[in-house]
Parts: sequence; C-alpha cells; structure tokens
Amino acid sequence: MAIAGGVNKMAGQISLLGLLLVVCGSVFTAETDIQAQAKLTELWEPVPLVVTPGIDGAPPSDAIVLFDGSTLEEWQAVNGGGAKWLIDGDGALTVAGGARDIRTKREFSDIQLHIEWRTPARVVGDGQGRGNSGVFLMARYELQVLDSYDNPTYANGQAASIYKQHIPLVNAARKPGAWQIYDILFTAPRFASTGRVSQPAIVTVLHNGVLVQNHVSIQGPTSFIGLPVYAPHGKAPIQLQDHGNPVSYRNIWVREL
Ligand code: MG
Repeated sequence: MAIAGGVNKMAGQISLLGLLLVVCGSVFTAETDIQAQAKLTELWEPVPLVVTPGIDGAPPSDAIVLFDGSTLEEWQAVNGGGAKWLIDGDGALTVAGGARDIRTKREFSDIQLHIEWRTPARVVGDGQGRGNSGVFLMARYELQVLDSYDNPTYANGQAASIYKQHIPLVNAARKPGAWQIYDILFTAPRFASTGRVSQPAIVTVLHNGVLVQNHVSIQGPTSFIGLPVYAPHGKAPIQLQDHGNPVSYRNIWVREL
C-alpha cells in the first residue's frame, strides 16, 4: 500500500507538471501568435533617407538653398539676364524698384518651400500698395506677400492669400519691419494628354507657423482680372514679384518632393 500510495503521489505530481506545461505552452503559443499577427502589418521598406533637420529655420541637409544671404547665383531676371535685386549687409534680398520679377534658374514640380520675407518698417501706402510682393509657385500661382498688419484690403488679396482664389484661414501677419515666414507644401497640377487639367495644383501654407491654407486646390494661374484658366505646363521656376515696394527676402530653401 505504501508503494502504491507513493506511485499515486508521483503520478499526481507528473499530471500537475503536465498541466503546467500545457498552460505555459498555450500562453507561449498565444504570445507567439500575437507577435506573428503584429508582424503582418510591419513595413520595413523602403527605409526613409536620413535628413538632418536645420535649427531655427535653417535648411535641412537635403534642401537646395536658393538664397543664403550672400549670392543671387540661383536667380535670374524674369526676362533673362542677371537678377538685379539688392543684397544688403545683413543678408537680406530686397526688391529693387523697376528691376522686375526674379525667378530661379532651376525648375521645380512638387516642393516644400521655406521663405522668409519682410515688408518695410516705414509704412507707405495702403491696401495693395503697402508692402506688396509675392511668391509665384511655378511662376504662375501667387501666394501673396503684403503688409497685412492693420491694413484692410480684399480678403482674397491679403498676405497669405492664394491671390484672388483663397482667403487665408487667419491673419497671422507680424508688424511692418518684422521678418515673417512662409512654409509651403505644393503639389504641381497634372495634365491629361488632351491638355486639360486632370488634377489641380494643391497647396498648404503655414504663415509664421500658423496654418493659413489647408490643402486647397488652385483654380488656375493667378489672374488679376477674370477667372483663372489652366494651361498645361511642365516644371517651372519659383518667381518673386517686383510690385514696386521694397520688400525683402532671406533664408530661401526648397526640397523637391
Ligand atoms: Mg503680390
């Protein structure tokens, strides 16, 4: 009986061990199963390129620097020839009245563009005549530059408007004489083989870090009079407007997307 009791006790211990192994095995299997299922939705490629970000608006490592305060070698006059705008000792590039628009020598399509601008500290004129310039994306689609600090004008023509098309969500203008920033995400329009626009240009703009244009569709090239009408085109330069006011620019860089 003593032997039989010992055998029974041992059998009981083995059963308990077996049960424990089964339970642990089930837990392990369930855990492995979760990990396997989780892996089904992991993407390991493509691996994003490493980009070293800039500090305080400085260009990231993969940007094309269009103006760093020292040279206009990336720019030309809109009608060809050298760009005649003025670079001062502080590295600001200022519209020289009568020098006409300037444009990049390079042409772009989809871009991220950073550009800083300043309207004159000494206020002259009002409405559209006060600190007017503009950033023409693809030399056609104007993001308005204007002194819009306490300066009423039509809302779809104030600073950060897509001129005559989209009113900015808010007025984030700084005072005259202060540097301001546009960060722009731009998707170029696409055209069908027939020449008709198949996907209009799309733009998102931050003005001094504040969202002012949220993924809006551009209706066509900027038009002073009448409604815009698309015409097919390929890559094109970035163009800055000479509207007769001494507006300044600095720290201009672009990333091709
Ligand atoms: Mg303008």
